[in-house]
Amino acid sequence: MIMAKELAIRPQKCIGCSTCALTCSLVHRGVFDPGQSNIRIYRDDFAGIFELRFSSTCTRCGQCARVCPSGALQLLEIPGDDAPAAEGQVSAQ
Ligand code: SF4
Ligand code: SF4
Repeated sequence: MIMAKELAIRPQKCIGCSTCALTCSLVHRGVFDPGQSNIRIYRDDFAGIFELRFSSTCTRCGQCARVCPSGALQLLEIPGDDAPAAEGQVSAQ
């Protein structure tokens, strides 16, 4: 059976550790610099939560989800190669 991969995003679980951004910059740019990552973490001080934003250069590779310690980013395997993306999910390569 073909398994499609989806990047599930649950920003309410984010603890703001930046591990995802550091990993992305290392994998895709060869540097340990969250400023060069395809994902940015913003703290909403009013709501007390973090917001996750992906740049247009994000390849949906899912490497950030593999290292996220909180479950804010998860790489899910969905049966079938044409499973529709649910809310909060984007296709991963
Ligand atoms: S899916 Fe890949 S390219 Fe996109 S932010 Fe995560 S590690 Fe970076
Ligand atoms: S999404 Fe995960 S890895 Fe990235 S800052 Fe939030 S908790 Fe850390």
